[in-house]
Amino acid sequence: MARSYVSEARRKRVAPKKERIRPIIERLAAEHADAAIALRFRNPLELLVSVMLSAQTTDVNVNRVTETLFQKYRRPEDYLAVPQEELERDVFATGFYRQKAKSVRGTMRMLIEEFDGEVPRTLPELTRLPGVARKTANVVAAELGHAQGIVVDTHVRRLSQRLGLTRQEDPVKIERDLMRLVPREDWARFPHLMIWHGRRICDARKPRCEDCPLAADLCPSSRV
Ligand code: SF4
Repeated sequence: MARSYVSEARRKRVAPKKERIRPIIERLAAEHADAAIALRFRNPLELLVSVMLSAQTTDVNVNRVTETLFQKYRRPEDYLAVPQEELERDVFATGFYRQKAKSVRGTMRMLIEEFDGEVPRTLPELTRLPGVARKTANVVAAELGHAQGIVVDTHVRRLSQRLGLTRQEDPVKIERDLMRLVPREDWARFPHLMIWHGRRICDARKPRCEDCPLAADLCPSSRV
């Protein structure tokens, strides 16, 4: 299905992507001034745990769970002070609870043993943590003000293809294309803009091109 986005992107004549990227960002920033991470956290540790729990579920669901979770678990040691089964029960509602509890505990152990109990800031360090893949690491690094890549989720992937910013299918290759294109100072906010635009206007099945600020001249897939 994704392949059709790529062919869609050949339909309408638009300027080269290098010329369009800044206006795309500016217009999306004006349209979605509130675009930001939807997970609730108060410190880097809560951010890391929230992002780990958010795999395969909604941010709303994670926030519901972490509201009480973070009252009970405040330091990395707290996650190791209870039996694994207790943590599994506490994160049950986020789904895949066994694997998530195992990853969180493994990550806490490594934070204590190798990082003085602090959340590291670099991608190579973050991706060493058990259960922390590149996407999770990118989200954490960006939210902590150290973006070293661009988060590619389902919305970023779909919109990048529709906007003709990439022809790739693989998230790692899409990220590489975007890193060449998006100004570095926008690496952190770019995914938020794409995600909110994807949720509100450029829906996977029914894009609302008639309401889209990119439709007239910036999107090759525009249907208006
Ligand atoms: S909603 Fe906007 S970004 Fe999506 S396909 Fe239509 S014009 Fe392009």
